[in-house]
Amino acid sequence: MKVLVADDDAVSLHILEHKLVQWGYEVVTAREGNEAWETLQQPEPPRLAVLDWVMPGRDGLQIIRGLRSPTREPYTYLLLLTARAQHDDLIEAMEAGADDFLAKPFDPQELRVRLRAGRRIVELQEQLVAAREELRAQATHDSLTGLWNRASILEALERELERGQRERRPFSVAMADIDYFKAVNDRLGHQVGDVVLAEVARRMCARVRPYDVVGRYGGEEFLVILPGCDSREAQRMVERLRAEVGMGIVVSDRAPVSVTISLGVSTFKPGSRLTCEQLLRAADEALYAAKDLGRNRAVAAR
Ligand code: GH3
Ligand code: MG
Ligand code: MG
Repeated sequence: MKVLVADDDAVSLHILEHKLVQWGYEVVTAREGNEAWETLQQPEPPRLAVLDWVMPGRDGLQIIRGLRSPTREPYTYLLLLTARAQHDDLIEAMEAGADDFLAKPFDPQELRVRLRAGRRIVELQEQLVAAREELRAQATHDSLTGLWNRASILEALERELERGQRERRPFSVAMADIDYFKAVNDRLGHQVGDVVLAEVARRMCARVRPYDVVGRYGGEEFLVILPGCDSREAQRMVERLRAEVGMGIVVSDRAPVSVTISLGVSTFKPGSRLTCEQLLRAADEALYAAKDLGRNRAVAAR
């Protein structure tokens, strides 16, 4: 684990660095407060810091106060190591947000075990953040295809509509539905159906632009948001998607399957007063028209 050690006394710094390396830490040093502050602002900052209180630049307490905003992540465990060792100093330091406090001259073994306690807290926090991120991913994504789930894609649509209205920028929404998918399930089983669904999702994602948003709207229905696309550009985009999905067979361990999709596309034009519901309904109606016309095609809403 990476540890920042900040001390303006070169001898003190050297001893600390030596000890920490001995205990297996990766050490980053700072000779004054501003340097320590910069180190802690980097993208992958040390998660443990041993700070001297009195230093040129920012002092240890200023650094601690600066770091203790409630939303800051990841958490940095801050141990103040200082010759200011009165009872009131300890209270002031802990009040400012220090996690621990050790008086100089310090007993190396005491520092070692205190750092170990800090490390445990840092590791616990890492696990919590990872668990939270995992839950967030599960709550917003569809587990079979990895796409945004219905609630998330609808939220994305709301946001795109707000932005379209604010910036007077067009965008399009495509509703895509796999053709004769029930027959795939009936003929080859639900498991093969699942493989096909995931592959269709993968092919669509491979063909959209990085800022397009693809979600699973329902069983074998997908919603694609195409920011900036007027109806002509949208037609070009969905044609790409249709061709990509229809290209080549999907091979599962059971059987080769070839699938196509039909798409209905609606477009938000700057200045229009369409709601999300109306855009979705228009895309859905266009999708039905595409099915009626024989499937494997894209139809623009009127
Ligand atoms: P159309 O061309 O008119 O769209 O015909 P279709 O057979 O695709 O349409 P229909 O709505 O009749 O059937 C959709 C099928 O999709 C029925 C359902 O069992 C299947 N399906 C929905 N979700 C899943 C899924 O997660 N996995 C699998 N394997 N099948 C699914
Ligand atoms: Mg279908
Ligand atoms: Mg369907």
